[in-house]
Amino acid sequence: MSENAAENLAYVRGQIEKAAREARREPSSVQLVAIAKTFGADEILPVIEAGQRLFGENRVQEAKAKWPELRAEYPDIELHLVGPLQTNKVKDAIELFDVIQTVDRMSLASELAKVIAKTGGRKLPRFFVQINTGEEPQKAGIAPGDADQFIHACRAQHGLVIEGLMCIPPADEAPAPHFALTRKIAERNGLKLLSMGMSADFETAINLGATHVRVGSAIFGTRPKIV
Ligand SMILES: *Cc1c(COP(=O)(O)O)cnc(C)c1O
Repeated sequence: MSENAAENLAYVRGQIEKAAREARREPSSVQLVAIAKTFGADEILPVIEAGQRLFGENRVQEAKAKWPELRAEYPDIELHLVGPLQTNKVKDAIELFDVIQTVDRMSLASELAKVIAKTGGRKLPRFFVQINTGEEPQKAGIAPGDADQFIHACRAQHGLVIEGLMCIPPADEAPAPHFALTRKIAERNGLKLLSMGMSADFETAINLGATHVRVGSAIFGTRPKIV
């Protein structure tokens, strides 16, 4: 990896293309979500200038401080929320994000629907449901066994446009079974999009059907340990 984020971006794009071809998939069927958390506009700008338009953040407050200005300059940027969403930040999140990948509990689905109704549908983000494939107590997400019912309720009760699933496999396990499980849940619920794979395992995720890979450090470099 180089100090130069634009060079890293080109390298990661090449690896995505290679992994897609090896899986006999169209490279264009895999979207790179550049995860910019902890990095500032000066570090993000070269990546935008290198052509990247799809970005992800894990905190609403941080995104609010960084992105409105960048988006004013580059209106075709698409922004995804990939971190946990507190119900008191739903209003900001709906204003800021095009896709919220972390719908992970009924109270959040209900609050999202409420706030969308209040805006008269002026801002209509798309949603992914986060699956806690490892059933880790400290991790957000719906347990695999509850997923079908939850997805159904999001759609039927709350009218949310659920487009896909996202997962973060346990750090100390091989990711492939978790990706495969997420894909299975998506297939039986008619969901086409799969957000899975990060810097360390996006090739494996592509092989198992990922349509969105979330890559941070392989592009921007190492983050401070806290995040
Ligand atoms: C930080 C983060 C990523 C990117 O992780 P890297 O290992 O730096 O690529 C992906 N997904 C989520 C949810 C994250 O919080």
